[in-house]
Amino acid sequence: MTGKHIIELSQKLWRATITGPRPALNLLFSILTEKNYCIIADVHTHPTNWVGLSEVDIEHPIEYRIGLPMIVIPNYGKGDIQLNSIGVHLYKGKGIWDNISFKDVNKLIICEDK
Ligand SMILES: [Zn+2]
Repeated sequence: MTGKHIIELSQKLWRATITGPRPALNLLFSILTEKNYCIIADVHTHPTNWVGLSEVDIEHPIEYRIGLPMIVIPNYGKGDIQLNSIGVHLYKGKGIWDNISFKDVNKLIICEDK
């Protein structure tokens, strides 16, 4: 997927959110299926340093799939974000999430310059 495709997809999804989150998610999943892609993580930001899971996060993940990580970036992603400051939570099923400790996040996520 090129940058142009990502922008086009973002624009389609943005237009779909006008009618509500469910149509946007349906469009996202139809595009993913059409292109044979899958979601590898559910990533969002929080306004502060707190990167735990809110009730909304727990009740509305992008997908309930065992092992799918939900990654929470602090401070709206502003500034120099270190791996040991982000929240990583793995879905275990039946509404249970495993919170990965800050010291173990770098065992799951590798950042590389390309
Ligand atoms: Zn959240």
